[in-house]
Amino acid sequence: MGELVELTGLKDGQPVTCACALGNLTEFESVPVDRRVMVIGGGITGITAAIDLGNAGYQVMLVDRLPSVGGRMLQLSETFPTLDCAQCTLTPRTVESGQHPKVTLKTSCEVIGLEGEPGDFTVSLRQKVTYVDWNKCTGCGTCIQKCPSKGIALFERDAGRMTAIYTLSPQAVPNKPQIDPDRCRYLTKGKCGVCAKSCPVGAIDYKQQESFFAARVGAIIVATGFDIYDWKNKMPEYGGGKIPDVIDGLTMERYLSASGPTAGAMVRPSDGKEPKEIVFIQCVGSRNPEFHKAYCSRVCCMYTAKHARLYKHKVHDGQVYVFYIDIRSTGKGYEQFIQQSVSEEEIIYIRGRAARLYREGDKVMVQGADTLTGKKIEIAADMVVLAAAMVPNAGAQELADILGIECNADGFFIEDNYKLSPVETGRQGIYIAGCCQGIKDIADSSAQGSAAASKALVFLSTLRRQNQEAV
Ligand SMILES: Cc1cc2nc3c(=O)[nH]c(=O)nc-3n(C[C@H](O)[C@H](O)[C@H](O)COP(=O)(O)OP(=O)(O)OC[C@H]3O[C@@H](n4cnc5c(N)ncnc54)[C@H](O)[C@@H]3O)c2cc1C
Ligand code: SF4
Ligand code: SF4
Repeated sequence: MGELVELTGLKDGQPVTCACALGNLTEFESVPVDRRVMVIGGGITGITAAIDLGNAGYQVMLVDRLPSVGGRMLQLSETFPTLDCAQCTLTPRTVESGQHPKVTLKTSCEVIGLEGEPGDFTVSLRQKVTYVDWNKCTGCGTCIQKCPSKGIALFERDAGRMTAIYTLSPQAVPNKPQIDPDRCRYLTKGKCGVCAKSCPVGAIDYKQQESFFAARVGAIIVATGFDIYDWKNKMPEYGGGKIPDVIDGLTMERYLSASGPTAGAMVRPSDGKEPKEIVFIQCVGSRNPEFHKAYCSRVCCMYTAKHARLYKHKVHDGQVYVFYIDIRSTGKGYEQFIQQSVSEEEIIYIRGRAARLYREGDKVMVQGADTLTGKKIEIAADMVVLAAAMVPNAGAQELADILGIECNADGFFIEDNYKLSPVETGRQGIYIAGCCQGIKDIADSSAQGSAAASKALVFLSTLRRQNQEAV
């Protein structure tokens, strides 16, 4: 085994070998430990950091717990303020991270332990079961086409269906499938086996076990991103997830996306009809210190204006209402974007919170008040979109405990100094970037990814020079 990476880990306290990692860590092992960096989280932030470090000649292990990289941006339709197609912008980056000679992707993989010291950390990782031998799989997709078991697609936010053997999206990097054991007929009932029979290279492995390995790296960048606040369970006043035509903003992205479940056609979930009156509600769970999150989720004003515009581009005779508390549009070109939405797209902004949503016939009744006029408002909408708060991804606190860094009361990783060292943590050699540090847009996420990469480079090159001087 290579001197620099130990391909063993611990399971139930016993050392185990990671067969999956054999063979594809050779490149990673080929440089000294102080020229290797681990990036945890493969969204736009982590990908940006990994490519920057790779281009600087450092070996990078990019770890994501999902089967492919791209993060939330892969789920977006078009992005403010320029309305570029998110996938067209992101795919060259995901492909580059997958093909970069200095970047090793470890997807379906999680960090479970950390030892060592800044400049020479040993990270223990768990490789999750995919039931597909990715070393054999060519990504041809035959198994996905033949699989008879279809169910709700997580990537499509319940708006679409997917097979039990799946990739997160058609542009997935790596483009290798995995099996959902809860939906696979063979793994639940011992019947089917169609994918194994149809796979031309014998890559399906129903007996695959999880495996463990460890990687030695000089520095670590954490870019684990965000999730959407659990409004379905925490906000009964908005229907508690039981009114089908009340969805959140991320689900709206999938409806608007040309690669989404409706191929970009604007329909409502309950009956597939085009919604003619649509209500957007901002600050759902944000800026509500009494019951939910005290902080502003920063991008909701902008993506709501984007949703309203994209909706109007599809439903020309549609009527849009937006409930808002304030409009916060602080990025470059953002204020103009909002003003254009109001003037050119004839979107009606109502200042105030919608208090209650309920179903009446095939309508969603929206009750609220206009705080500028003091009048009560009731709208019979065809569909309602909630700009739900953004929260740190599940497991952030556990990861912080493993890495020896800290989270604030809301679960975002704490920086060393918010103003002067915003991507550094209290622990040397460990950096944070993107939405896991605090909610931000794609531009700021990319900038922080690059900032964290550059801080890791400065730390490792300084350490190297000091070590050389000491010899
Ligand atoms: C509805 C909506 C619309 C938006 N529209 C826009 C827009 O138009 N323009 C714009 O600029 N911004 C927009 N944003 C914001 C944008 O989505 C974020 O700025 C961006 O996705 C942040 O990227 P990230 O890499 O920090 O996090 P993420 O995209 O969340 O990526 C984090 C990655 O880390 C992985 N991960 C998490 N935990 C672990 C772990 N423990 N171990 C390993 N991997 C882990 C995840 O699987 C994921 O791949 C929008 C946000 C929402 C909710
Ligand atoms: S064995 Fe499972 S994953 Fe494979 S085709 Fe059948 S249901 Fe789909
Ligand atoms: S059929 Fe086999 S080779 Fe093709 S994608 Fe499925 S597992 Fe991979």
